[in-house]
Amino acid sequence: MTPLASLAEAVGPRHCLHEPEDIAAYVADWRGIRGGTPIAVLRPGSTAEVAEILRRCDAHRLAVVPAGGRTGLCGGAILPPSAPPAVILSLERLNRIRDVDARDFSIVAEAGCVVQQVQQAALEADRLFPIAWGAQGSAQIGGMLSTNAGGIRTIRWGNARDLVLGLEVVLPDGRVLDDLRRVRKDNSGYALRHLFIGAEGTLGVITAAALRLVPRLRAVETAFVAVSSPDAALALLSRVMASGAEVIGFELIKRVCLEIVARHGPHLRLPLPLDSPWYVMVELAAAHPAVPVRQMLEAALFEASEAGECTDAVLAESEAQRAAFWRIREDFPEFSRAAGPAISTDTAVPVSAVPEFLARAERALAERWPEGEMVALGHAGDGNIHLGLKAPAGVTREEWVARAGAADMVVNEIAVALGGSFSAEHGIGLSKLHVMSALKDPLAIEVMRGIKRALDPRGLMNPGKVLPPN
Ligand SMILES: Cc1cc2nc3c(=O)[nH]c(=O)nc-3n(C[C@H](O)[C@H](O)[C@H](O)COP(=O)(O)OP(=O)(O)OC[C@H]3O[C@@H](n4cnc5c(N)ncnc54)[C@H](O)[C@@H]3O)c2cc1C
Repeated sequence: MTPLASLAEAVGPRHCLHEPEDIAAYVADWRGIRGGTPIAVLRPGSTAEVAEILRRCDAHRLAVVPAGGRTGLCGGAILPPSAPPAVILSLERLNRIRDVDARDFSIVAEAGCVVQQVQQAALEADRLFPIAWGAQGSAQIGGMLSTNAGGIRTIRWGNARDLVLGLEVVLPDGRVLDDLRRVRKDNSGYALRHLFIGAEGTLGVITAAALRLVPRLRAVETAFVAVSSPDAALALLSRVMASGAEVIGFELIKRVCLEIVARHGPHLRLPLPLDSPWYVMVELAAAHPAVPVRQMLEAALFEASEAGECTDAVLAESEAQRAAFWRIREDFPEFSRAAGPAISTDTAVPVSAVPEFLARAERALAERWPEGEMVALGHAGDGNIHLGLKAPAGVTREEWVARAGAADMVVNEIAVALGGSFSAEHGIGLSKLHVMSALKDPLAIEVMRGIKRALDPRGLMNPGKVLPPN
């Protein structure tokens, strides 16, 4: 039997796609970057089928590239152009919520559940699944965990990793590691689940996860605030942290980003005039409706204004207005793409270092590429700033990459020098391998290689990703 026939037998012919028109959607990712062509795209419907596929791929020495919602921004779910023979394993049909336990504050979801589906199931049980970000309507639980996604709520509930109680994982040889427990405390040896979280599919395939839920929010208030500088933004952060309510979002936005929104998102109304160099979106909340969150936010903003930290502010007056504020922030990647080429980064520094990071990056970029414009926005409440260097008008992506491609290293080096990271929440995939080689501790890479060899001795799981070539 040919490898293709064997795989079709394992998953059923309807779910073993190989015609060019059937697999077209799987060979490129959200960024529009096209990868190599797999021998097939497989769409298993159960953990047992995933296990059978991995056993057969192991026997035929076929590489396996897991794919979730394909919204990853580092090329993790596409084939490298010179990949060995490989299949793309799409988890989209593993999309059942297996259990929601309100008393336990937990949910068990399969890897192909869309993040929004899990949020909705939690709400129906009067609970909150707190991870949220712009691509939540397409990204899947398996992709979220494999990239250890962050998003807008990290300041309060941490990254995806912090919400995982247990995992079900199929190992590269087809054995199923069933660690899908909801127990809160378990120190019986190594916490193996953490190996697979953030591994970008290089160690096995996540098929289901037991996730932590939190109380549903009953009072939420959101403000759009003009601040004079990143330092002023941090002063405001300290104030809202001490306000008595939970700070569940704190985004810093450079004015140029709002100018891009104004140009490319005409359906969105900007909440404040474009006369401030920086803006903050801050969201406070409480689980009990009687908590006076609005007064707490107003008091913090009043004090900030008295102290000269904020120059203008508007509070959302309705749920629709709150959602409209968030559209500005969450759809920014789309508007930015429409605005033309940019060299972008995904850095994190300690929160206190955000102002220095921004100042140093702006100076360094302006010195080498005065024709570019620094864009910056991000989850400043957790130190994660997405900084980019936008090309001048009329310059193509290819020209800009050739001219200013080194801008990412300039920014990454500054972040690392300040005790930060060159990959805060998007992972490494294919596009940050060069940064891994240059900036990651060689001993850490050596340990990672040892783990990879132990779990995937044939190197079949998502080859060419995360670990730079030897
Ligand atoms: C508009 C936009 C905004 C974004 N904002 C944020 C943000 O604020 N914060 C953030 O963290 N990210 C953000 N992202 C990035 C992206 O949404 C996340 O990385 C997301 O977690 C990827 O999920 P996915 O299902 O699309 O994964 P994919 O892109 O399909 O895959 C990502 C990686 O995970 C692996 N993988 C997928 N499923 C599995 C599985 N079941 N088992 C093993 N490996 C698997 C893939 O092989 C790949 O390496 C954004 C993306 C977009 C397009």
